[in-house]
Amino acid sequence: MNPRKAQLLAAHLSGMIGRTVCALTIAIVGGVALVALAPVVSNPVDPGAAPWWLIGVGFFLSEGFVLLARGRVSVVALSPHAATLGVALFLLDPGSLLVAQVAGMAVALVIAGIGMRSGLIRLAVAATSTAAALALFMAVGSVTELSGLIGWVAAVVAVTVATAVDIMLPRLWQPDIESTETEIVPHVTRLSLLGAIASACIALVALELIRLDRPGQMLLLLLPFASCAAAVWATTSEHRRLVNLRLLADAVRRAHEAPGRDASILELLEAPLTLVDADVAWIALLPRTGGDELQVASTAPEGTSPLRACRLQRDRAAGVHAEIERDGAREVSGDDTGDMLYTLISDLGLKRAISIPLCGEDGVNGLLIVGSRSRSTPGYRAEDLRLLETFAGNASVLVENDRLERSVTELQVLKDELRHQAYHDTLTALPNRALFSESVTDALDVNRSATPAVLFLDLDDFKTINDSLGHHAGDELLVAVAGRVRGAVRIEDLPARLGGDEFAVLARDGGKESAELIADRLVRALEAPFMIAGREMRVHASVGIAYGKPGVTSADELLRNADVAMYNAKHSGKGRHATYEPEMHLRVRHRQELVSALTLAAERNEIGVHYQPIVDLASGKMVAVEALARWDRPSHGLLLPGTFIPVAEETGLMLQIGRNVLREACSRVASWQRTFPGMENLRVNVNLAPSEITGRQLVENVVAILEETSLPADTLVLEITESGVMENPDEALATMNELRSLGISLALDDFGTGHSSLAHLRMFPIDTLKIAREFVAGLPESPVDTAFFETIVRLGGSLGLDVVAEGIECAAQASAVTSLGCGLAQGFHFGHPLAPLGLTYALNSSRHVEPTLRVA
Ligand code: C2E
Ligand code: CA
Ligand code: CA
Repeated sequence: MNPRKAQLLAAHLSGMIGRTVCALTIAIVGGVALVALAPVVSNPVDPGAAPWWLIGVGFFLSEGFVLLARGRVSVVALSPHAATLGVALFLLDPGSLLVAQVAGMAVALVIAGIGMRSGLIRLAVAATSTAAALALFMAVGSVTELSGLIGWVAAVVAVTVATAVDIMLPRLWQPDIESTETEIVPHVTRLSLLGAIASACIALVALELIRLDRPGQMLLLLLPFASCAAAVWATTSEHRRLVNLRLLADAVRRAHEAPGRDASILELLEAPLTLVDADVAWIALLPRTGGDELQVASTAPEGTSPLRACRLQRDRAAGVHAEIERDGAREVSGDDTGDMLYTLISDLGLKRAISIPLCGEDGVNGLLIVGSRSRSTPGYRAEDLRLLETFAGNASVLVENDRLERSVTELQVLKDELRHQAYHDTLTALPNRALFSESVTDALDVNRSATPAVLFLDLDDFKTINDSLGHHAGDELLVAVAGRVRGAVRIEDLPARLGGDEFAVLARDGGKESAELIADRLVRALEAPFMIAGREMRVHASVGIAYGKPGVTSADELLRNADVAMYNAKHSGKGRHATYEPEMHLRVRHRQELVSALTLAAERNEIGVHYQPIVDLASGKMVAVEALARWDRPSHGLLLPGTFIPVAEETGLMLQIGRNVLREACSRVASWQRTFPGMENLRVNVNLAPSEITGRQLVENVVAILEETSLPADTLVLEITESGVMENPDEALATMNELRSLGISLALDDFGTGHSSLAHLRMFPIDTLKIAREFVAGLPESPVDTAFFETIVRLGGSLGLDVVAEGIECAAQASAVTSLGCGLAQGFHFGHPLAPLGLTYALNSSRHVEPTLRVA
C-alpha cells in the first residue's frame, strides 16, 4: 500500500466521530448484556450439546455472508464468524468444532466458485485462527471453571484473538495486498475487532436465552445488533467518503502539477486505480481537429504507454464513439459479449470495468476505461461510479485546459514564426530589408550619441553567374555569401540581405575606422573562391559606406547614400569600397537616366549600326566591314559603344541590343552584296558581348537572322574576346563549334589585351586574329612593338589564321604592318566607321573605280 494513502487514512482515523460512536455502542451493548445476563448463566461448557453439523451450517452461513458481502468492511465488520465461533466454543469439543468449521466453510467456498488455491488458504487461515481461540479458551478452562462471567470473558477474548489472527495472517504472505477495502487497513482491523467482540457477546446472550428457554426475549437482541450495524455502516461510509475525497483531490492536483502533457495524462490514468479496485486504466481522447485518429494512452500491470495517435479497429472505435455519446459512468462486464465495448474490454484483458465519458465544458472530449483483470475482484458499487464520474469531470477540464494551452502555445509559435518570416530573408535567414530599415531608424534615434554607419554590399557580376549557371547555383552562392558576411561582422553589427545580390551591414556605433575596417573585412571575406554547383568560382563585391547623424539623417537617406557609395565603388573598379560623398549622387543620377533611356532605346530599336571597312592590304580592296553599334540619343548626340555597351551588359539589355545589331548588319551587308557587283563576298564582322556567347539563345538567333536576311553564312564573322569566352569556357566553346559548323567564321578580337594566352589560340576554334590597336600604335618606330607585332603575325600565320591589324591611322603604319606580313587591316587610315548611307554612297561612287583604300 502506498505510504501517502496510509498517511491520509491514519489522519482520518484518528479524528473520526464515527469510530467513537461505534466503539461506545458496542461497549454499551456488550456491557449491558453481560451485566443483565451474568447471574442466569449456569451451565457453561457443554460439549456435545449440539450436533457438529448444525454448527457447520452456522459456519457455512457466516462464510456465505462474508462472500456475498465481497469483503465490504461495513458488512464484514459485523463478524458472523465471531458469533458462530463464540457459541461453538461452548457447544462442541475442539475436534468437532474444527471439522464443523472447515466443512461449513468449504461448502460455502465451493459454491461461491472460489479457486482451489485461494479456498485452501482461506480454510487454513480460518482453522489457524480457530485453533488459536480454542487454545486460549481451553487454557483458561484448565485453570478455572469456565462458568458464568469467566467463561463469557474467556470466549469473547478467544474470539477476538481469532479475529485478529484472521485479519493479520493473510497479510503475512500478501503484504502488498491491493484492494480499496483492505487499503483502509487500520480502520478495518479496529472495526473488525470491535465487531467481533460485539457479535460474540450478542451470540452468547442468545445462547443463554436459549438455555434459559426464553427464545422470545432473543428479539430484544435485534436492537443492539441493528445499532452495531448502523454504527459500523455510518463510520465506514463516512470514512470512505473522506478518504475518497482526499484521494480525488490529490489525484487531480498531481495531474495538474505534472510536468508536461504526457506526465499529466499518466497521472490521470494512475489516479482511478487508487480510487477504485482496478489495475488497468485506458484513456482515449477525441482528435481536436476532427479525423478518425484517437489519442490513446494506458497504464496496466505490464507498463504504461503515453498518449499517441492511434487508429483503432473499426468495431473498437465504434464502441468508443457510442460510449462517448452516453451520459455518465457505467459498469461493463468482461463476459458480456453483446456489449459495444466488449472487444475493447477483452483487448485490455479486463474482467470488470467502468467506462466513463470525459465531458469538458466545450463538450465531449474522450473516454476513460478503468478495470480489473482479476475475476475475484468484487463488482463495482454505485459509489465507485459516482467517484469516477466526479474524477472524470475534473480530468476533462484538465484535458480541455491542456488543449487550450497547447493551442495558445501553437498560436504563439505561429506568431513568432510569422514575425521571423516577416523580418528575415527566407533564403539566407539573414534579417531582411524591413528589419534592417527598422534597426537603422532605431540607430538614428535622436537620443543616441554614436555615429551609425550603413555598409551597402553588392556582388559584382552576380547576374552573369545566375544567368549562366542557373538560379539554383545563384541561390547557393547567395547562401554562401551570407555566411561570409555574417562571419565578417562584429557581434554588435546587424548584417542583412536587402534582396537580390544586395547585402547590408548596420554598424550601430559606426565611427569612421570601424566601418571602413568592416568594409575591408567584407571585401576580403569574399575574395576566397566559392565552391558552387561543384565548381570553384570567384566573386567580388563592391561596398559603399555612409554615416548618419542621429536626429539629422533619416534611415532612408542613410540607406540611399550607402547605395550611391556602393555604386561609385563598383564603377571605380570592382572588389573595393567607397565612402559616400554628396557629389556621388550626380553620377548615380546620370547613370540611372542612362539606364532608363537605354532601356527605351533598346525597346524601340533605336541603336543603330555604323560600318568600318576592313581591307586586304595586298590588293587594297575592302573585303569586309565591322559593324559597330551607335546610339543616337536624343539631345546627347551620337553615343559611342563605350558609353552604353557596358551598361547594357550590366542591366541585361545587351542580348536585345546585340540581336538587333546582328539583324541590322546582316540585312544591310546582304543588300550590299546583292547591289554592288564585286561585293558578293563582302564579309560582315559583328561583335559579341560575353553575355551573348554564354547565353543559350545565340545559335538559334544567328540561324534565324541568317535565314531572315538571306546573308550567306560564310560571309558572317563573329568577333569574340578572350575574356568573354573565359567566363564560361565550356559553354562558349560548344557555342563556337556550333557556329563554325554552320559555316560562320570566328575572330578573336583585341588580341594582346586582357589575359591573352597562347593556350587560348590553340584551344579556340577561330579563323581570324585581330591584333589590338595598342600594338599598332607604336609602329613603325617602336622596335618592341614591331617585334611583338611580327611575332603575333607569324604565330597567326603558322596556325593558319587570318590576321587583321586594328587601328591603322596613317600610311606609315599601313606599310609597316604590310611589311611585317599582316594580310588585313582596319583603321581610320582606311576609313572611319560610317553610317549605312555613307558606306552605300562610298560603295556607289567606287562602282566604276575599284573600291580601294580611303573610303571615308
Ligand atoms: P572594337 O571591336 O575593337 O572595335 C573597333 C573600335 O576601334 C571602334 O570603336 C572603332 O571606331 C575604333 N577604331 C577603328 N579604327 C580606329 C583607329 O584608327 N584609331 C582609333 N583610335 N580607333 C579606331 P567603337 O565603335 O567606339 O567601339 C568600341 C568597342 O565597342 C568595340 O571595339 C567593340 O568592342 C564594342 N562594340 C561596338 N559595337 C558593338 C556591338 O554591336 N556589340 C558589342 N558586343 N560590342 C560592340
Ligand atoms: Ca571588334
Ligand atoms: Ca577590336
